[in-house]
Amino acid sequence: MEEGRQQPLKSSSILVLHDALIVTMDSHKRVFRNGAVAVRGDTIIAVGQSQDIISQLSYLSPQLLNLHGHFLLPGLINTHVHTSQQLGRGIADDVDLLTWLHDRIWPYESNMTEDDSYISTLLCGIELIHSGVTCFAEAGGQHVSEWQRRLNGWEYVSQKDLHKKYHNTADGRIRIWFGLRQIMNSTDRLLTETRDAAKQLNTGIHMHVAEIPYENQVVVERQGVDHGTVTYLEKIKLLQDNLLAAHTVWVNEDEVGLLSKSGVKVSHCPAAAMHMLGFAPIREMIDAGVCVSLGTDGAPSNNRMSIVDEMYLASLINKGREVFGKGTTDPTVLPAETILEMATTNGAKSVLWDKEIGSLEVGKKADMIVVNPSSWSMMPVHDCISSLVYCMRTENITSLMCNGRWIMVDKKIVTLNEEEVIVMAKKASSDLLKRAGIQIPSRMNFL
Ligand SMILES: [Zn+2]
Repeated sequence: MEEGRQQPLKSSSILVLHDALIVTMDSHKRVFRNGAVAVRGDTIIAVGQSQDIISQLSYLSPQLLNLHGHFLLPGLINTHVHTSQQLGRGIADDVDLLTWLHDRIWPYESNMTEDDSYISTLLCGIELIHSGVTCFAEAGGQHVSEWQRRLNGWEYVSQKDLHKKYHNTADGRIRIWFGLRQIMNSTDRLLTETRDAAKQLNTGIHMHVAEIPYENQVVVERQGVDHGTVTYLEKIKLLQDNLLAAHTVWVNEDEVGLLSKSGVKVSHCPAAAMHMLGFAPIREMIDAGVCVSLGTDGAPSNNRMSIVDEMYLASLINKGREVFGKGTTDPTVLPAETILEMATTNGAKSVLWDKEIGSLEVGKKADMIVVNPSSWSMMPVHDCISSLVYCMRTENITSLMCNGRWIMVDKKIVTLNEEEVIVMAKKASSDLLKRAGIQIPSRMNFL
């Protein structure tokens, strides 16, 4: 049974994962109680009932992997992450926004070396993999304070270089987008040139949008628009279907309409929003047809890089938020199936990759996760779809395949040494905090 998982698949061999409950997330929302997915190389070649798939492919003598008692889902997609902030986990808990930025995050980012960034990314990657993520959108930014000092043109040119060098590398798994940290440190020229370059190179733009009321206030004062960032981005035609707008918390009704009309994708990061920003009008966006996906944001804004936790939180906080509009909560808002869409198919649309990933369908990439529900956290399962959102923990995800290759098997990542990374990260983060002069005040009475 385990043989099929030990080696990366050869391009000619076929692996059939069968006898699993398969949540395909395809357009018909098919769920197979006893289903199978067949993979050749990096591609899914069949999805259906176990018996049918096994008999159809038997003449090719495929490897069979029995997943009895397990769920099989598309890999989850995290549409807003800062991998270089992982070493900053816990450096800015329970502090106000100015302390968060000035005394913790900017010193952390501006003292970070390339090695620190690499170790941080490895550590973040480990957590992403354990939480079932097969694709993520990096927001960029470990040298923000340096960027702010330099000419805006510098950042734009360096991003074009990155695109030329790395776009579509690693078998097409790396895609380079343009990143705009946020509007307050972007000139008009940077915004419009980024807009045009992304169009010309047929790629996306990832930007923090309408995070705090102060941001909208600055935009209103500087640009003379009547509301905030979203209204201004519409004015300069940056609201387009290749824009991935992170957070998008402080938007009014008209702006929700603008996001919908222009096809902008929104990355909802519920934990970070509650930590620092506020409640985004997610139900209103979904009702208006905006494509909303899920992100964790960076470790100093969230602490947990688990999209599984974000699925749970997204459902709960948006039910609770209804109290502000209706005077009572609404438990029917953002049901489990909507949350699963946000973490899979909407994630794929948000990263402009929906033709290849986001669901288990013939012709798509073999990105998938195996969930073992037989644990104290999930049992008993009466409604498997709601269980995946309200009960599943990161620990229930046992194996992960990306691009046809097993990355995690039985909760162990097979592509790197997790213990080694943890040791390196511990040292790098404490050295970095010393260099940056960041001191975390003691709480309680330490003896
Ligand atoms: Zn962010």
